[in-house]
Amino acid sequence: MSDPTSNAVLTSADIPDELGSAAILPGDDRYEQRQSVYSTPGAPAVIFAVSSVDEVRAALAFASSHRDLPLAVRSGGHSIAGASTNVGGIVIDLSDSRELTVVDEEAGIVKAGPGLPSGLLLTGLQERGWVVPVPTFGDTAVGGVATAGGIGLLARSLGVTLDSVTGFDVVLADGRAVRADKDSEPELFWALRGTGATAGVVTSVEFKATPLPEVLSATTTVAPGDRIADVLYAWAQAAQQAPREVTSAFLANRSKDDGSLRVTINTVWAGSDSPEAQAALAPFLAVDAEAVGSVKTVLYSATVFTPGFPHVGKRSAIFRNGFSPALDRAASDALAELLDHPEVTTVNLRGFGGAVADVPVEETAFVNRSGEYLVSVWGAVDRQDAFESIWSTVRPRFHGVYAGYTDQTDEETLAAAFSDAVRERLARVRAEYDPTGLFAHTPAVR
Ligand SMILES: Cc1cc2nc3c(=O)[nH]c(=O)nc-3n(C[C@H](O)[C@H](O)[C@H](O)COP(=O)(O)OP(=O)(O)OC[C@H]3O[C@@H](n4cnc5c(N)ncnc54)[C@H](O)[C@@H]3O)c2cc1C
Repeated sequence: MSDPTSNAVLTSADIPDELGSAAILPGDDRYEQRQSVYSTPGAPAVIFAVSSVDEVRAALAFASSHRDLPLAVRSGGHSIAGASTNVGGIVIDLSDSRELTVVDEEAGIVKAGPGLPSGLLLTGLQERGWVVPVPTFGDTAVGGVATAGGIGLLARSLGVTLDSVTGFDVVLADGRAVRADKDSEPELFWALRGTGATAGVVTSVEFKATPLPEVLSATTTVAPGDRIADVLYAWAQAAQQAPREVTSAFLANRSKDDGSLRVTINTVWAGSDSPEAQAALAPFLAVDAEAVGSVKTVLYSATVFTPGFPHVGKRSAIFRNGFSPALDRAASDALAELLDHPEVTTVNLRGFGGAVADVPVEETAFVNRSGEYLVSVWGAVDRQDAFESIWSTVRPRFHGVYAGYTDQTDEETLAAAFSDAVRERLARVRAEYDPTGLFAHTPAVR
């Protein structure tokens, strides 16, 4: 977990006029609902609720003249590591920046404010029959997702969210507003796709949407009891053998009521119903003789959960992950056995590969593109030491880390999330775009 703190106290007298209405100080009615993020409590000295480029520039100027205070940048506030809040510091909060505009109707190019929740991006696109691949949790916002990765149920067919980004509008540490795309500031464009607020503040994200008016969605639920290892292995085989139109997510956890195991499998075929689609989904419905399943045609947005939860800053679990080659029987047994331990609350596996692996690794700073699955294991927060020791028994089977889905920001995690080549290249980008290290407080990459 990141822990940027200071004892600073600011008053309205410290706030420049141009930020007067954007500044939220402790005691303000708006403070309580913005001080924390999804999983981390916070108590910033000031939150700047900014929408315009000028306000972002003014907030960065304020941060530049208060270098002793931690700085955090926020869009949707779902950083699992708590990177988008702090104690006694400055938060530049773009969560109100939610506009969505069509830039080029022919080419399917759209521009979104960084605070737009990814589920609402989808509902905004659906009247045109367009999609952008997004996380399965739609409250996550465009600004954080498009700079971290974005792994969801279209990953194998359309890639991660940042693979659909065609450009960013960015305000740099010195206040310059630039456009970063493949032709303009290409190194900044590279860095922003994977390392978050390490070189600037994104004020809008441009995507190329893909026409996909409907998907075929299969849901499977099982109470596997002691057949959990067989069910997990059957899913892993199905996911690995599936055509790239199919992406599936496997979630196993124990009921808090009676301790029984529950498995939910959500699978999407990126297209309309057809015999081929039904055949591709069938193995996911047949992972167990007692599995209960259903298949229906829906909008892609219906497969994304967008409840609009308020941020209460409650750490719900310990989050660890890695990428896995095809799971053999021994590896899937090892994962299933984790669920025998009360310290492990959830095993969450996502189908990976396909379109994700088509993108050359040097093209973006999101470099962990090999592997058949993203493996996430969640632990009980009150049993951290025991959980760490159990996780360490399976960790060597996996490689890399998805930085957007872990609460760790230590050196070992960053080295696993970003290769040495990425970190060296990023150091050069930061030297050019943030030479005084204004964003050095942001924990994504040091
Ligand atoms: C309940 C939950 C479910 C999730 N499910 C998934 C999932 O299915 N798939 C998946 O891929 N991920 C998932 N995530 C992880 C999530 O996608 C990432 O944490 C993402 O970065 C969140 O973006 P945000 O804008 O909501 O969060 P924020 O906390 O606002 O931002 C996250 C990071 O991005 C940086 N950042 C935010 N806005 C900007 C900006 N405008 N300019 C520059 N940098 C910025 C922040 O500084 C921070 O480091 C989940 C997270 C949670 C809490």
